[in-house]
Amino acid sequence: MSRHRSLRGRIPVSALTTTLLVLATMAPSARAQQAWPQHSMDRPKPPVQAAPAQQLPVKAPPGALVLFDGRDLGWWQKWDGSAAGWRVVDGAMEVVKGSGGIKTRVGFGDVRVHVEWASPKPAEGVGQDRGNSGVFLMGTYEVQVLDSYQSDTYADGQAGAIYGQFPPSVNVARAPGEWQSYDIEFHRPRFDSTGVVLAPARLSVWHNGVKVQDDVALLGPTSHRVRAPYAQHADELPISLQDHGHPVRFRNIWVQPLAP
Ligand code: MG
Repeated sequence: MSRHRSLRGRIPVSALTTTLLVLATMAPSARAQQAWPQHSMDRPKPPVQAAPAQQLPVKAPPGALVLFDGRDLGWWQKWDGSAAGWRVVDGAMEVVKGSGGIKTRVGFGDVRVHVEWASPKPAEGVGQDRGNSGVFLMGTYEVQVLDSYQSDTYADGQAGAIYGQFPPSVNVARAPGEWQSYDIEFHRPRFDSTGVVLAPARLSVWHNGVKVQDDVALLGPTSHRVRAPYAQHADELPISLQDHGHPVRFRNIWVQPLAP
């Protein structure tokens, strides 16, 4: 929540300012998108498109920082700083239900992230209760991981969505158990010294090599059933992965910090 409030003490001024700022920088089509209530099942679903052939794993380019190479969780820890509770199996890390999310031991600001993931096979559950995890930039801004292959959920919560805000432009999900890729380019929000947002966070996402989010200005932290306002935070924070109770697997995670 913002430190800045109106005289009436109800409306967080910086949140209002931010909303206006974000809306002002949005294309009309993006503004129309935001007219939909969060998690609306009536919101049009992105068209399904076959994922293009892709050579996976994608080798980390020179200079990239490899955060998981299939061997151990050395770069990762629990939120309280203790050892990550996920298991390493067949060159992948797998969510262990109830062990909690994991985060990198170091922080990142503007960054490119490559992640490969696979939803459980055989698939279990429906909607959000099916292969759910997430890649959180700065532990705060979620690119949704979900089994969206021939499985229905709300548009702003499917694979490739910026959770609760922006559906992906297309659904290029692969089948359960198949490896999929996310390439994410993230620009952190900018705050002034008092916490007012000078520039919103921005995300581009390629799912299985297809651009599904194009330099989208985030409305604030991603959240379930609330569009929360921005809250000032550090310039560098860990990347985190979500334990949503499903044995989703991740592998070949590498990052390229970007010059501000
Ligand atoms: Mg999730």
